[in-house]
Amino acid sequence: MRNEDETRAARSDTSAFNSAFRVPHSALVVGGGLAGLAAAVGLARHGFRVTVLESRNRLGGRAGSFTDPGTGQMVDACQHVSMGCCTNLAHFLRTVGVDHLLAPQPKLYFVTPDRRVSTFKADPWPAPFHLGRALMGAHYLTPCDKLRVAYGLAAMLWARPDADPPLLPWLRTHRQNQRTIDRFWGVVLTSALNETVDRVGLKYARKVFRDGFVRHRDAFTVHVPTVPLGRLYGDELRAWLAKHDVELRENAGAKRLVLGAPGVSAVELRDGSALSADWYVLAVPFDRVSDLLPDELSSRESYFAGVKNLTPSPITSVHLWFDRPTMKLPHAVLVDCLGQWVFDRGEVAPGEFYLQVVVSAARDLRGLGRDEVRRQIVEELGRVFPPVAGAKLLRAKVVTEHAATFSAVPGVDRWRVPQASPVANLAVAGDWTETGWPATMEGAVRSGYGAAEVILERAGRPAKLVQPDL
Ligand SMILES: Cc1cc2nc3c(=O)[nH]c(=O)nc-3n(C[C@H](O)[C@H](O)[C@H](O)COP(=O)(O)OP(=O)(O)OC[C@H]3O[C@@H](n4cnc5c(N)ncnc54)[C@H](O)[C@@H]3O)c2cc1C
Repeated sequence: MRNEDETRAARSDTSAFNSAFRVPHSALVVGGGLAGLAAAVGLARHGFRVTVLESRNRLGGRAGSFTDPGTGQMVDACQHVSMGCCTNLAHFLRTVGVDHLLAPQPKLYFVTPDRRVSTFKADPWPAPFHLGRALMGAHYLTPCDKLRVAYGLAAMLWARPDADPPLLPWLRTHRQNQRTIDRFWGVVLTSALNETVDRVGLKYARKVFRDGFVRHRDAFTVHVPTVPLGRLYGDELRAWLAKHDVELRENAGAKRLVLGAPGVSAVELRDGSALSADWYVLAVPFDRVSDLLPDELSSRESYFAGVKNLTPSPITSVHLWFDRPTMKLPHAVLVDCLGQWVFDRGEVAPGEFYLQVVVSAARDLRGLGRDEVRRQIVEELGRVFPPVAGAKLLRAKVVTEHAATFSAVPGVDRWRVPQASPVANLAVAGDWTETGWPATMEGAVRSGYGAAEVILERAGRPAKLVQPDL
């Protein structure tokens, strides 16, 4: 990586020289979340010399862990899961050699406050019939509700793929009652989209059911990391990056992109230094983008104008350590409850049994305070899983990520930008860019691969990185 002055002098000659003699191109990726890491991996695999700038002292961005100061344990800020339909994330994890650290869950357990459990698993029939019996077996829906749901699903799948009216009125006009909205559509969509049914549009709801459940037998299989995210996106990933000459600079916050001719000429860091490369990938969350853009760029390019309209949606996770095992299931989807998913992470230290409860679209918890949130969640778990009520709660932690994801409101795609920016040597990545996916790890990796494809194309070395759907 060169200093800015050296680069300015050399810059005009660089591209012609590079393409004539196949000198490795250099790329600077701002943001070490999954989008930035996927871009780095994509470019490094094609011979680019890549540097990743990350403002925090760890990789993984929102998919990260923290070290509990009391115990030294690595704790995920929030449990992250993926599904079989996440083909780009799976490819990324395979590429960097950590795919063995996820456990597929062939069965999902849906539990209601009366402690009844429905097991959701595929039959050996071709899609879309593989899950028909599982849906028909859901104890929390009446036979009539199930017919309503089947009708609603069929209508949704027949809807135009780009149609994105508000979902709730659409559901009502398609024969859904409050019970099917709360116990079926709401249960699936609030977790998948991190947004409540009354705020989302039809487009991403359709995407969830079509790609996640209907299109392929393996699509609905949930994959749960067997190690904290900090390990999943930790040493093994670093080893891969080091082997491919990717330089990682942590605690290196970017302050601003510097414009030159014909594009970005450097990244100014918060410590006052500057770094330059041939190509740049901006891979920060949507609410950080405008801070990093030089004024002349934000005022000149309408490309970035819509980003400010994206709005965040929060997720709260409640971490509970008990003195004994409390659940017989590895996880449970909670129906008619405040918590939506609970994961049993087992005995994480001698005599400490760890559960994590996730509340997506957690706006209603705002203002309750951590103690009250913990109290309500523990009380609820005690009702659903009686051993919880008899166990001693050793420790608890309530973590809220206020800007966990962008909110998939109707028509949200008009504010998402393609990875190909109008600036010649700049690509943009992030789960909020135009991926066709909601804000997920899969969307982040897709965007990173997409950004790398843009650069490879513009550098005259086109390659296909984005993986096909299942
Ligand atoms: C609580 C929670 C639960 C979630 N659960 C799931 C789940 O179960 N499944 C799923 O698929 N998705 C889940 N998600 C969403 C998923 O985490 C994100 O979609 C994905 O990680 C986004 O990756 P990204 O690279 O686009 O952004 P980020 O992860 O936000 O990465 C951006 C990076 O840029 C860095 N950065 C910011 N500013 C600067 C700067 N000035 N200079 C240098 N670096 C900078 C940040 O520190 C960060 O590391 C969850 C998210 C949250 C918050």
